[in-house]
Amino acid sequence: MLEIRDLHASIHNKPILRGLSLSVKAGEVHAIMGPNGSGKSTLSQVLAGRDSYHIEGGTVTWQGQDLLAMPVEERARSGLFMAFQYPIEIPGVSNAYFLKTAVNAVRRHQGLPELDAMDFLARVKSEMKAVGMREEFLYRSVNEGFSGGEKKRNEILQMALLEPRLAILDETDSGLDIDALKVVADGVNRLRSPERSLIVITHYQRLLDYIVPDFVHVLSAGRIVRSGGRELALELEERGYGWLGEAAKPGK
Ligand code: ADP
Ligand code: MG
Ligand code: MG
Repeated sequence: MLEIRDLHASIHNKPILRGLSLSVKAGEVHAIMGPNGSGKSTLSQVLAGRDSYHIEGGTVTWQGQDLLAMPVEERARSGLFMAFQYPIEIPGVSNAYFLKTAVNAVRRHQGLPELDAMDFLARVKSEMKAVGMREEFLYRSVNEGFSGGEKKRNEILQMALLEPRLAILDETDSGLDIDALKVVADGVNRLRSPERSLIVITHYQRLLDYIVPDFVHVLSAGRIVRSGGRELALELEERGYGWLGEAAKPGK
């Protein structure tokens, strides 16, 4: 489904990703862990197509297509979903309008009829209930003035409505209390299916108590230095990142 080979990317001429390879098949849940500054957010930004990042080399194949050559909008329409570490605010655009437009863009791409206002409202209200968001959030500007936890819930709401083929969650757990964390994890777990893949980026193993990954990778200085099963996350929790050696130190 997603094949990243020897990806190199830089920002302001500073190399950040330095030979990252990762293969994600349908139905798999991968966790990417790593110290601060190792390039986790850069990876999600590069896959999303943020233009401040420069691709220096490597390939990314997504559902058989060259992802890096796809226009940004097309990436989202084709079923790629990103929940960013710092969700953007969109003043003047209501959450309801934003969600409906996004959902219908994906439905058009899939050859499905658009949802009308009634159908959309019924769906969004039921999903909001599931993530514990009050209805007033539909009529507020996207993420504007939302607390950290409310933004993260909103990301999960977007994801649930868009039903992506691949969702990448960048530190969706950071700054959440345990109740909000469970909401996020429940939202993710409800979406797990044999057709859908997930990449969960997290600094802490705590989220992985609730979203149990099939594979865990350690990103360090822009490349994956260790891969394993769930036990790798527990080992990191216990021993930190230091034992992975020089290669795992930030900035090296
Ligand atoms: P992580 O998400 O793993 O904490 P990031 O991908 O955010 O790491 O950052 C990786 C490295 O890239 C860090 O050294 C960071 O300072 C640098 N970096 C990220 N964004 C920028 C930017 N806009 N300008 C300069 N350096 C950046
Ligand atoms: Mg960070
Ligand atoms: Mg980050």
